[in-house]
Amino acid sequence: MERRAVYQGALMTHGYQGEECEEAIWPASTAAELRWLKDRQHVVREVAKHVQAGLDTWIVDGLAFLDRHGGHSVILTRKP
Ligand SMILES: [Zn+2]
Repeated sequence: MERRAVYQGALMTHGYQGEECEEAIWPASTAAELRWLKDRQHVVREVAKHVQAGLDTWIVDGLAFLDRHGGHSVILTRKP
């Protein structure tokens, strides 16, 4: 139980941040997965169109954030 809580905490350590607005989200995912989504968001978006359900929440949330902040750079960041 305690180990699971620590694991969840580690998952929320990394996130996306808009370089201009400095708004950030901390999806329940790893740095590697967040980097993967950011690099392949166009591909993932295409796949998402054909998938009715089953996309992980962090992918849905991540894509929504990248959409909202598409006008400027979004960086991968971690909590201090
Ligand atoms: Zn922004």
